[in-house]
Amino acid sequence: MKHSRRTGDIMLRCYECALKDETEEAVAICIMCGKGICMEHAHRIDLPIWEGGYPTPVKVMKKGLPRFVCSDCGNILVPGACE
Ligand SMILES: [Zn+2]
Ligand SMILES: [Zn+2]
Repeated sequence: MKHSRRTGDIMLRCYECALKDETEEAVAICIMCGKGICMEHAHRIDLPIWEGGYPTPVKVMKKGLPRFVCSDCGNILVPGACE
């Protein structure tokens, strides 16, 4: 029997594209809100390493991993960065 098998169900879709009725595979996940975001909507930000004020020493990465955020969160973190 014919069973239509949909591949791509596991695929994480870009949330912002989904809002526009588009289906785009997410390549990153917003570190702030956890949305899937595609290449187009992912904004790479270089956050300063968390420092200052915390009593517990936070492990600091040498170069910092690329961090991706969605447009909304990007604008919150770095105002004007993601127009
Ligand atoms: Zn997208
Ligand atoms: Zn976000």
